[in-house]
Amino acid sequence: MRGAKIMSQASSPKAMSQSKPNPFENALEQLRIAAEYLKLEDGIHKMLASPKRQLTVSVPARMDDGSVNVFTGYRVQYSDVRGPCKGGIRYHPNVSLDEVKALAAWMTWKCSIADIPFGGAKGGVICNPKSMSQGELERMTRRYTAGIADFIGPYRDVPAPDVYTNAQVMAWIVDTYSSLKGYMIPEVVTGKPVPLGGSLGRDKATGRGAVFCTVEAAKVKGMDLKKSTFAVEGYGNAGSNYAELLQAHGAKLVAASDSKGGVTSKAGIDAVKLNAYKEKTGSVVGMPGTQRIDDNQLLQSEVDILCPAALENAITPDIAKGVKAEVIVECANGPTTPAADKVLDANKVFLVPDVLANSGGVIVSYLEWVQNLDRISWPEAEVNSRLEAKITGAFKEVHQTSQKRGTSMRTAALIVGVGRVADAIRTLGIFP
Ligand code: GLU
Repeated sequence: MRGAKIMSQASSPKAMSQSKPNPFENALEQLRIAAEYLKLEDGIHKMLASPKRQLTVSVPARMDDGSVNVFTGYRVQYSDVRGPCKGGIRYHPNVSLDEVKALAAWMTWKCSIADIPFGGAKGGVICNPKSMSQGELERMTRRYTAGIADFIGPYRDVPAPDVYTNAQVMAWIVDTYSSLKGYMIPEVVTGKPVPLGGSLGRDKATGRGAVFCTVEAAKVKGMDLKKSTFAVEGYGNAGSNYAELLQAHGAKLVAASDSKGGVTSKAGIDAVKLNAYKEKTGSVVGMPGTQRIDDNQLLQSEVDILCPAALENAITPDIAKGVKAEVIVECANGPTTPAADKVLDANKVFLVPDVLANSGGVIVSYLEWVQNLDRISWPEAEVNSRLEAKITGAFKEVHQTSQKRGTSMRTAALIVGVGRVADAIRTLGIFP
């Protein structure tokens, strides 16, 4: 039977009735749409709806006051049919197994769309890193690494940074993993500090890649970036670099937000100054010359380009109805629900989906892994130009698919991404 309804265990009536949609249900719904276009065999559709491996680990760590906290950590290896599993590790209080499964599925399609030889994975630890000291974070990271050490590795599963993890966290993972194995293995993760084998250009890669996609989207829409305005929801690594680099193309930042609130200014906000201000104060809130707005106002502000760069489910159908932007570039993973996609499609918003728009991060992770395995390092200009070639090529392939099939960019991206993974499964066959 084709187009079978595949539900995860999360799809109990209780999970379905939660006000925020379950991200894994969103991922399965997107997969269902792609499967229909691709006329996928039911067996392959079922395989693509089931992560290969899901690990849950207890992570005991000593706190600075001498007490012991036991955190819960996950690593979901969604698919490795196109290469080693690949994906970041997230530290956040709202991490859940279903969120990690969704993020791991999206990594699978993302690596496939970029046509890099990786499968998809994701990790997460339920914690509040903002209230933890560096020592507490280090002890938690090392114990989480020990918990998943038998399952990761340069040819098995290669973690990287995600929300609230960074190059320092990657360095602790390298040290712990290498200590357990008995020799230095920096290529077990990407997004490392540059002196430890990190790639030049990796820290800005997600934002830079999203800007390359924005340049292509502007060409499609006949939009002059020098005359356009934009808003960024989530002024973290991806969002702030996106703002700075898009501003360099002449576009004007008029609103930005982070977990503490949002700010706006019709006259424009200098992204470089806003980055410095946030670095100093910890938030965009209070930036001189701006007025306060909330997240919903930001998402619905009068701009040409909207960049959701925070978490899942930011754009619900209610928010989507009020979106004024002509172009959306998803720097976050899963910021738009499938129901909101329908509203945006009906309103002819040109949306560059997460699995394409934010793939710059993992593309440069791939370049880092290649440099590590070859024991070489490329100048930043070379990394950036390889990133540009890869992501621009992926954009064009997705855009052509959307034209040919008459679909949104999201559906076209999934047709390309899911299609390649399905081809790999078909060719490999099923063991035994
Ligand atoms: N966490 C990033 C993402 O969601 C990067 C993953 C990676 O570099 O492996 O794409």
